[in-house]
Amino acid sequence: MTSSERTAEREHHAILLAEDDPAISDPLARALRREGYTVEVTAAGADALSSLDRGGFDLLVLDLGLPDVDGLEICRRIRQDGDNVPVLVLTARADEVDTVVGLDAGADDYVAKPFRLAELLARVRALLRRGTPDARTDQPAGSPNEGVRIDIESRQAFLDGAELHLTAKEFDLLRVLFREVGRVVTRDQLMREVWETTWWSSTKTLDMHISWLRRKLGDDASQPRFITTVRGVGFRFERE
Ligand code: CA
Repeated sequence: MTSSERTAEREHHAILLAEDDPAISDPLARALRREGYTVEVTAAGADALSSLDRGGFDLLVLDLGLPDVDGLEICRRIRQDGDNVPVLVLTARADEVDTVVGLDAGADDYVAKPFRLAELLARVRALLRRGTPDARTDQPAGSPNEGVRIDIESRQAFLDGAELHLTAKEFDLLRVLFREVGRVVTRDQLMREVWETTWWSSTKTLDMHISWLRRKLGDDASQPRFITTVRGVGFRFERE
């Protein structure tokens, strides 16, 4: 692919960059624009929220340490509002990464500061590819209302033909539940298979991931189409 073809492919993508440190945002915005993206930069969390409210962004690059509204809070709020825009987190707090990605905030990916520009651009490309299923040429065949489909090799999951934006743990969770379709999978088994632990106090993590997964599947916990809670035991992925 030539660089002008690359630019043509990307020019319709709009990125919101929320970062208060100009030593990071200036060169990063320049690099993203050079790649052909439209970039809006905000230095404050409140501005980021109002820009997101306006809509039209294909990706949010989000610094966690913003001066007014914390990046985690921004992430939570937009997910609560049902906004599925892919979120790439920039963080210097490497120890909080697990909390950030997927767990309670609902981000899709992260890059730890200091980061290499090439690495960040690669993550941006990957998220934008995931975020634009219409542009894909390898949509799975079949009727548009086919429920959930999983491609283990490419680690992609589809709902009614549209690709789901799942974090790594959400994908693993769905994969295990889906494999056992129609059967109860115990909490213990999920903790072992997805988190490789039997550390019981962390099953709160499991509940949070189940709730994120349900949200992405458009599932209603009280009347689930896909994931049923089996009280005191675990969860069951329902046959369609
Ligand atoms: Ca900052």
